[in-house]
Amino acid sequence: MALRKLVAGNWKMNGNRAALDELDGIAAAAASVDIDVAICPPFTLIAPAVAKAGALPIGGQDCHASAKGAHTGCISAAMLNEAGATLVIVGHSERRADQHETDAEVRAKAEAAIAAGLIAIVCVGETESERDAGRALAVVEGQLDGSIPPAGEGKTLVVAYEPVWAIGTGRTPSVADVAEMHAAIRVRLTTILGERGAGVRILYGGSVKPDNAAELLSVPDVDGALVGGASLTAALFVPIVEAAAAIG
Ligand code: PEP
Repeated sequence: MALRKLVAGNWKMNGNRAALDELDGIAAAAASVDIDVAICPPFTLIAPAVAKAGALPIGGQDCHASAKGAHTGCISAAMLNEAGATLVIVGHSERRADQHETDAEVRAKAEAAIAAGLIAIVCVGETESERDAGRALAVVEGQLDGSIPPAGEGKTLVVAYEPVWAIGTGRTPSVADVAEMHAAIRVRLTTILGERGAGVRILYGGSVKPDNAAELLSVPDVDGALVGGASLTAALFVPIVEAAAAIG
């Protein structure tokens, strides 16, 4: 089943008010294609990004699992929603590594996001040593088992497969490896979610650039891309959006 593609940009801890000017070109491109496009800027830029971006969906890069409370420095899903966000990334490998987030915590965050009316993008992916050891599939399947909210479905849940060793490195897996992993993720989603698993989009992330986007986005069960560095400028992000739209 061909799912509507989603190309989401993750600005990480980059950008400032001036960088929001990039949204003009990105929003214009998004409005002219028949796919979904979104940008996830830092928390402080969400409200101004929403004000500037028109119909372009804006998302957060994390949320807390609790609705409120004594969690200094954290943001709840409802707060993101109130700021105008419509989606949130949870379980990015940088947070799994830097903040030691566990699968159970990622699942709780995804459930909180969905309960607050946001689309949750749950990230999974193996490290280089795990791939070298032949454990990539097992690692990702384990992350899915632990991180996917059992009530998830296509309207509320997206999975992003991001091999850790491909993020920000300029390296990407082979097309065959991406195809093998995305097919395995689809099977596992169906195991976890039943028929609903067929409707959950699976994004590829890790050094997606204008020159490799078409090849990666053409792989079966690659339903879009999660883009880091190349989402920071319209000049790099728009060609990726257009490549996804051309594939449909
Ligand atoms: C990411 O961090 O989600 C990502 C895919 O980064 P990059 O595109 O820069 O590899």
